[in-house]
Amino acid sequence: MSSLRFQALNAVLSRVIPEVKTPSSKISDFFGVNVFDKKKMKDFLSKEAFLSINNSIDLGEPLHREVSEQVATAMKAWAMAKGATHYTHWFQPLTGTTAEKHDSFFEPTVDGSAIEHFSGDALVQQEPDASSFPSGGIRNTFEARGYTAWDPSSPAFIMESKSGKTLCIPTVFVSYTGEALDYKAPLLKALSALDKAAVDVCGYFDKSITKVTASLGIEQEYFLVDLALYNARPDLLMTGRTLFGHMSAKGQQLEDHYFGTIPERVYAYMLDFETEALKLGIPLKTRHNEVAPSQFECAPIYEEINLAIDHNQLLMDLMDKIAKRHNFKVLLHEKPYAGINGSGKHNNWSIITNTGKNLLSPGKTPKNNLMFLTFFVNTIRAVYEHSDLLRSSISSVSNDHRLGANEAPPAIISTFLGSQLSDVLDEVETSRISKKIKEDNSLWLGIPKIPQILLDNTDRNRTSPFAFTGNKFEFRAVGSSANSSAAMTVLNTIVADQLVKFKAEVDKLIKKGEKKDIAILIILKKYIKESKDIRFEGNGYSEEWEKEAESRGLSNIKTTPKALDIDIAEKTMQLFERTGVFNHREAHARYEIRMESFYKKLQIEARIMGELVNSVIIPAAISYQSKLVENVRGLKDLGMNADSYKGQMEIINDLSKHINFIKSNVDEMIEERKKANKLEDVRDKSIAYDEIVKTYFDPIRYHVDKLEQLVDDAQWPLPKFREMLFIK
Ligand code: ADP
Ligand code: MG
Repeated sequence: MSSLRFQALNAVLSRVIPEVKTPSSKISDFFGVNVFDKKKMKDFLSKEAFLSINNSIDLGEPLHREVSEQVATAMKAWAMAKGATHYTHWFQPLTGTTAEKHDSFFEPTVDGSAIEHFSGDALVQQEPDASSFPSGGIRNTFEARGYTAWDPSSPAFIMESKSGKTLCIPTVFVSYTGEALDYKAPLLKALSALDKAAVDVCGYFDKSITKVTASLGIEQEYFLVDLALYNARPDLLMTGRTLFGHMSAKGQQLEDHYFGTIPERVYAYMLDFETEALKLGIPLKTRHNEVAPSQFECAPIYEEINLAIDHNQLLMDLMDKIAKRHNFKVLLHEKPYAGINGSGKHNNWSIITNTGKNLLSPGKTPKNNLMFLTFFVNTIRAVYEHSDLLRSSISSVSNDHRLGANEAPPAIISTFLGSQLSDVLDEVETSRISKKIKEDNSLWLGIPKIPQILLDNTDRNRTSPFAFTGNKFEFRAVGSSANSSAAMTVLNTIVADQLVKFKAEVDKLIKKGEKKDIAILIILKKYIKESKDIRFEGNGYSEEWEKEAESRGLSNIKTTPKALDIDIAEKTMQLFERTGVFNHREAHARYEIRMESFYKKLQIEARIMGELVNSVIIPAAISYQSKLVENVRGLKDLGMNADSYKGQMEIINDLSKHINFIKSNVDEMIEERKKANKLEDVRDKSIAYDEIVKTYFDPIRYHVDKLEQLVDDAQWPLPKFREMLFIK
């Protein structure tokens, strides 16, 4: 029987592209059909109930019991009419995936018959057994209760699968004692802090603004690999990345993939998941090839941030499920292949008001510009103040491979503003505030005119982790597999906190008799000066920047265990308590969970590496070596001289060298792992895994990859990079 690799290669050659039918050629015909959105609620609810739920959605007001009963009934009627038989609370535990617990609408009654039942209580709150989700010690197993509660700002939807349809209700997940066990609850708290702080500051400019939230557009990068090839790679299967593999002769050096034509098989897959996503109301808009071979990207139009994140989580689920139909595996790992680009999830973030204003969009009049500058400068000031916390928010074992690699943002947080806005800030910083009254009675504050062409600004810097792109910031350091909430909770929290400080400082000046606009400008000037070091317009991938950043005192923490320190530093604790986002226990619990996940993932990688070396790689190398030995022996028997098997002898020798190297290094690595496992403290353990165990990975890989180049191709067991990356 041929090896799994060749079976897989054969399977790839006989792939038939599945036919993808879209419900209609017009997207508007099917966009959101599987979502119980406002429009459908209006049809199914009484006027009063609709108004009430509307307030819960838009203003975050609690849902009244009678209303929740009505909404539940309506939701059930809608879902059952669409063929749903089950419902689930859909939530985002700290495992990084999404979780569901399905219940049937069906409920037996006392008289033995059955009714289809779904109550308001079941809609609003549920109690899944939480003991097997990570809680960082918040929930002892004896009180293994966690609650999920509906968050009406994200609508219910129907998930379709081959075996049926399920009504999914997006919820937060909290412990019995009310502490957050998920990603959504803290995000909602951060948004509420931002809302309050930003509305207060908006009061200086526009009293009609009563609600502020953040908008988010998430670009999602991913790799595709044939499912059979994926299944023939235990490392990919178990860790999401290749632990071995020699880079194919052709990589991305020709730069021929980016925006190239999309292969037909991939196109069918994209069309399929896009259709399902559109039905779920995910406004997918763009798709294209990315830089690396077999790497792609999709992006929806931005939405309110909480919804955008739910949609991204849902999208990742869909992409994974639908890939199977096409015999693909979608790789969301940040660095599935060494030697070519990794994947990120660019988070395009901005602040928007209930009046429809984007607070990060420069205005036409000086007054509007002052408002824009206020939010713009405060954001920069917040990023400067809390760059370490932002850095920590995007760190994970998988993103560590990507940050600071030559294609990804460095581990140094900086902001890129573009030359025009940099000039504006410089001018504001150095200008003398003029208090002359202009003829229109407004103050002329010496704010330079902000050019209106920012939006099609070609002055883009793709090497910056946090770049301003016309009317939003793009946080590029977020990893492709991450739940964006982690980073967005931090970003919204630090901006909220900064705005509170700003308001206090401005009010103080006003109290002292300063004119409002002048007070604002004085504080902004101070912030511009204070936060200058975080601004960088040059090449973020360059070595010079690392040096310069160091001289500016910016931190450059390259690995997760150390990046996480800031999460429980006193400064952070105070920030989170002040803003009401996390309490002490929650912050510590999260820290533990992240640290644990870090070393556990490395532990798995180290195990798989050892296992593959011992039971797959070495046997393949030995078997090929035996063949050579036999050949040499035969040549000798024939009376041939040593010259005739000189080449074979060299290969035999090289094989032995590499085999010995990997064998002894794997043995040593196992010993180090045992030592690391004995460490009690989770930080010590993570650091031991990171700084000792992990250092064996690259040398072992190097020698395995040498073996890959030596061993007879017909006998090499693992699919090669060229096969995974170039066979379409
Ligand atoms: P690029 O690759 O050039 O950065 P894309 O078009 O791929 O641009 O993605 C840009 C993302 O930013 C899209 O999701 C878009 O909807 C989003 N976006 C645009 N304006 C805003 C905004 N004001 N707030 C948040 N996101 C925005
Ligand atoms: Mg982008």
